[in-house]
Amino acid sequence: MSKPKVGSNVHIPTSYDSMFFGASNGVGCLPTVNSGFRTFHPVFDYDTCINCNMCWIYCPEGCIDRSSGRMEVDMDYCKGCGICAHECPKKCITMVRDGE
Ligand code: SF4
Ligand code: SF4
Repeated sequence: MSKPKVGSNVHIPTSYDSMFFGASNGVGCLPTVNSGFRTFHPVFDYDTCINCNMCWIYCPEGCIDRSSGRMEVDMDYCKGCGICAHECPKKCITMVRDGE
């Protein structure tokens, strides 16, 4: 199987800002508020966060916003999957049961 060719109309991201990730790009899988079935939610330790963007890149809902200079989650759209916590290289995201 050969590597597919990239068409001339495909925009290849050249920086984080041009990638199709994160809240600013609206790439969430679910079109409506989906926090209703969530059991856990992520809590960030900003003292150990190094702003590497890995959580922002991996979040499947695109609900992590980094526009303020630190990672903030739109809890209306976070489904509590914990992927951000799993991928964080500094382990500064803790999944906490909703209501705690
Ligand atoms: S728990 Fe899942 S949906 Fe919520 S911010 Fe982390 S990766 Fe995104
Ligand atoms: S993955 Fe962890 S260290 Fe990187 S930006 Fe997210 S919270 Fe911060």
